[in-house]
Amino acid sequence: MRVLLTGAAGFIGSHLTELLLAEGNSVLGVDNFSTGSMTNLQHLKRETRFEFREHDICAPFDFGKVDFVFNFASPASPVDYSRLGVETLRVGSEGTRNALDLARKYNVGFLHASTSECYGDPLEHPQTEEYWGHVNPVGPRSVYDEAKRFSEALVMAYHRYYGVDTRLVRIFNTYGPRLRKGDGRIISNLMTQALRGEDLTVYGDGTQTRSFCYVSDEVDGILRLSRSSEHLPINIGNPTEWTILECAHAVLEATGSTSKIVYRPLPEDDPIQRQPDISKARRLLGWEPKIDLKSGLRLSLDYFRSCAEAPV
Ligand code: NAD
Ligand code: UDP
Repeated sequence: MRVLLTGAAGFIGSHLTELLLAEGNSVLGVDNFSTGSMTNLQHLKRETRFEFREHDICAPFDFGKVDFVFNFASPASPVDYSRLGVETLRVGSEGTRNALDLARKYNVGFLHASTSECYGDPLEHPQTEEYWGHVNPVGPRSVYDEAKRFSEALVMAYHRYYGVDTRLVRIFNTYGPRLRKGDGRIISNLMTQALRGEDLTVYGDGTQTRSFCYVSDEVDGILRLSRSSEHLPINIGNPTEWTILECAHAVLEATGSTSKIVYRPLPEDDPIQRQPDISKARRLLGWEPKIDLKSGLRLSLDYFRSCAEAPV
């Protein structure tokens, strides 16, 4: 298969590219480098089954027939999407539409990277796919949350009205090598701080929770979903829930660092809790994660060490 992957130069996109190539596919990566980097794909330069086009998917595009479309282009970290608010809304709407139009034109499958942010600051816990969410439509996170919720509606509309063979994955906090240093996300911040001997910044009192999925587990779930015929959203994430303070201690343990923990203000609308119910993924995809947070942090050590040693 010749597979199109938007957002290929990003963190998850680069790991998905590798997995798709390893499974024998050809991959056409498209990215505008707004938050990604060619460094993530450098090691694939000599791979003849990998092609790359620098392009902003908000402008229509067609680089020839493809057999499947994965749509992963979008800023994803709160720091990135706050900086790129309008761009985030555009890629979730116009960009997703352009990618869907390609799947429609070539009559091929489509998988969209959605997010646990569709649940907002959830009042139901853990979150099942049936929960409609609790989202502030005008707060600072709305540029991302509502872009992703609009994308989900658009994907379902292309399925219902045009018969496109679509899939929606709701990704929960994913981490691992190639998370961009300085993207502001919890694991990249804490690992880099710990390895530099700097204070670990915990926002709020650190009692808010997240559930962290190692990237190889995440892309395995995504690939399985691409081969299924489920059109409604599926949660793919690790169901083990951690407070942010527990996560900071896990980082100290994995790195052997003696850094101190310091407290900083909690960003506005920061969700209090997040935990995926993955019964549906277990039942329909036979998927569950294999790598717990402590093992995943150890697997990421070399990468974050190189980030920590690089000039600021
Ligand atoms: P990332 O920022 O590393 O990757 C996103 C990629 O999309 C980048 O390479 C960026 O340059 C590219 N991009 C952004 N706008 C574009 C545009 N207009 N045209 C072309 N390319 C564009 O983030 P990530 O963590 O790898 O996230 C990938 C996808 O998964 C995103 O859609 C994100 O919303 C979703 N997701 C990620 C997580 C997570 O924990 N990592 C959680 C939920 C959802
Ligand atoms: N966070 C933190 N310190 C940091 C970065 C993030 O305490 O240096 C907290 C943040 O406030 C949130 C959680 O960690 O409660 C996860 O943040 P992240 O930006 O990784 O993603 P989110 O799940 O909020 O989209």
